[in-house]
Amino acid sequence: MILKLLLFAIVGVLIYKFFGGKLPNIGKSPHEKKLDEDTLVECESCHVYVTVKESIIVGGKYYCSKECAP
Ligand SMILES: [Zn+2]
Repeated sequence: MILKLLLFAIVGVLIYKFFGGKLPNIGKSPHEKKLDEDTLVECESCHVYVTVKESIIVGGKYYCSKECAP
């Protein structure tokens, strides 16, 4: 029962990451690993898409630059 829930959660996260990283993928070949770093996230302030690796995370939200971060 717990395993089933765990599997469901993992699949859910994978689907979320798949769509989150795939929608606005600009000419980059998809990596087999390190999906997190290249996943595009929306800036909370100016709504520009940046990769997780380039973004600034403040309070669990993503920002494109220091100017947008609170
Ligand atoms: Zn911004």
